[in-house]
Amino acid sequence: MPVAPNRDPDSNGFFGAFGGQYVPKALKQRLDEVSVALERAEQDPAFMQEFRNLCTHYSGRPTPVFFCANLSAKLGGAQIWLKREDLNHLGAHKINNTLGQCLLAKRMGKKRVIAETGAGQHGVATAASAALLGLECTIYMGEVDIARQHLNVMRMKMLNAHVKVAMSGQRTLKEAVDEALGEWMKDPDMFYVLGSAVGPHPYPYMVRRFQSIIGQEAREQMLTETGKLPNACIACVGGGSNAIGLFTAFLDDANVALIGVEPGGKGKAYGQHAASLCLGEPGIMHGFNSYMIKNAQGEPGEVYSISAGLDYPSVGPEHALLKEQGRASYVCISDQEALDAFFMLSHYEGIIPALESSHALAHAIKIAPKSKNDTILLVNLSGRGDKDVAQVEQLMATKS
Ligand SMILES: *Cc1c(COP(=O)(O)O)cnc(C)c1O
Repeated sequence: MPVAPNRDPDSNGFFGAFGGQYVPKALKQRLDEVSVALERAEQDPAFMQEFRNLCTHYSGRPTPVFFCANLSAKLGGAQIWLKREDLNHLGAHKINNTLGQCLLAKRMGKKRVIAETGAGQHGVATAASAALLGLECTIYMGEVDIARQHLNVMRMKMLNAHVKVAMSGQRTLKEAVDEALGEWMKDPDMFYVLGSAVGPHPYPYMVRRFQSIIGQEAREQMLTETGKLPNACIACVGGGSNAIGLFTAFLDDANVALIGVEPGGKGKAYGQHAASLCLGEPGIMHGFNSYMIKNAQGEPGEVYSISAGLDYPSVGPEHALLKEQGRASYVCISDQEALDAFFMLSHYEGIIPALESSHALAHAIKIAPKSKNDTILLVNLSGRGDKDVAQVEQLMATKS
């Protein structure tokens, strides 16, 4: 199902007032090169067919939808359904995007890809996609994150990627992005694989393009399984790629509520959360205009979440527009609520969810008992929780 043209960004890459390309001239040239190549690729049926083939045979799509009968009965009220993105190769939705971008890199004749990573999930998905497509791969990661995410660092190395340490500033995701962008500018044979629906145009549009397979499948599957559309689609929002991937297919279904769930962390005070849309304000960072969390100097502020995949101080520009238009709503879920949801899904359905996805699930768990029992809530289960097991074990140990 093609995306309605009025949903696309304008020719300068703006979704309403949000998005754009706030970058130096040299970087704009590289971005424009990607825009042109993407436009041609999208119009080439062979390219989109190759993308779908890899999604099917490499990543295992379509991922199923699943009715949580036990959990729904336990809570009373709405029926909770999951879109099982956790069943993708490598255990999350990220591979949809990295396969698309690496295919485009190859089509453009690039020899190398580069990516930033925070928790390491995007780095692993990029490394695997590059290995599959015969591209050299470099991943930038902050020194602090490398120490925290040993398993993913080892996975990237085994997938033949070079892992480079970002040593500037706070030595986390923001510095990794800055250093990777610097490298990209220097090497014309390189393609930058961005991990979420953020950054300068065309990245928010491109990431949506590849992730919208989630909603396209889910909309059809829900019609087949339940005979109607869900009353609400619920997804966690870090940069916003799994959420926009689910929402896009439902944008024109006025009766389907779209709900993005942000990490409320430990509370509403500065530094305790990463809820850019709920608690931030409009502003420009990493080359685009959106909602962001600022420090006292108006720069990207300090953020925190129990889940490493959600702690980014800004959010995809299309979400900022959907919020402003009132087409989607955005809510916060705390660390504790996410953790409770993590255990509930594990106990009642035998599915260990990623802590990121647990935020979306927690919101469904919150509203289900207040809903009629013919209400259907579709939750995007963006990833599996194996990567979080050690962290949750530690949290439990320090509590008891
Ligand atoms: C990275 C990640 C997220 C957050 O990224 P979005 O771009 O907001 O989707 C959510 N869930 C999982 C499992 C992730 O790995």
